[in-house]
Parts: sequence; C-alpha cells; structure tokens
Amino acid sequence: MDERRIAARFAGFDQDGNGYIDREDFYVAAKALLAEFGTTARCDRGQALYAGAEAFWQGMAGIADVDGDQRVTRGEFVTGAVKRLRDSPDRFAEIARPFLRGAIAVADPEGAGLSTAAAERIMRVVGVGPEVAATAAAALDADGDGRISEDEVVRAFALYFTVPD
Ligand code: CA
Ligand code: CA
Repeated sequence: MDERRIAARFAGFDQDGNGYIDREDFYVAAKALLAEFGTTARCDRGQALYAGAEAFWQGMAGIADVDGDQRVTRGEFVTGAVKRLRDSPDRFAEIARPFLRGAIAVADPEGAGLSTAAAERIMRVVGVGPEVAATAAAALDADGDGRISEDEVVRAFALYFTVPD
C-alpha cells in the first residue's frame, strides 16, 4: 500500500481544509452534494444523506481516531487507512456505503440507475480530482450501458485509494 498516495487523500476528506478530519467535513460534503443536485436537507433524501454522512464519520473515527479526540489527524488517517486497507479493503469501503447510497439517491432521484456522468459529478463534488473521477466512472461502467450500481460506486471509493492520480 502506498502511504504517500493515502496521505494525498487526506486533503479530499478534509473538506474545510482546517488540517484534520472531523464530523464537520462529512457534513460539508453532504451539503455540497445537496447543492450540486438541487436537493433540500429537509426532504427524505436530504435526511438520508446526512445520516450517511454521520455513519461515514463514525466509521472513519472508528478506524482512525486512535486518541478518541473526535479529530482524525493526517498521521492517524494514514496509519488507520493503511492498516484497514491491508486487513480488509472491502470492509474499508463499506464505511462509505450509507453515504454513497444517499448520494446516489440525490443524484438519481428517479431511480433510473446512476449515470456515469452523475457518478463523476458525485466524486468531483466530494473532492476527487477530475481525471481520477472520469477514469473511475468510465472504468466502473464495465458493460458500457452508461449506468452504475451502488456496489460499483462503493468499489470506486476503494479504487480512490489505489488508483494513481
Ligand atoms: Ca476538516
Ligand atoms: Ca484523533
């Protein structure tokens, strides 16, 4: 596992750029997604996304907040992410599933199937670089029908840590 690559992902999680990851960063991401797709926080989809953001934060804290101060430092993030990715990459990505499911519901309100373009928008809004987002979205649509499943989006989250920029 490339620790430098994982360290570079820290900035993506530190959405407000204050030098550590905490609950607020996940709420910032949820708010940005709602704004991107024109959804209110009060509707069911908005509430589900915020619940997913909370679960994502709790999962991240469980993996990486070693000293329990409700902040994940860069050092805690690298150590925690590397350890968990080594132990179980699939379970690592599962911490993001409720949030990603919420994001999909916001980006695909009709439930028609998430388009590759919408998947790319989700990733870019939460801080994935444009080229990585485009590459990941295209790679996920293996059969080329332009639609991406929830499992494939969760897989993209894992890829985010392993695909070079
Ligand atoms: Ca932060
Ligand atoms: Ca901490």
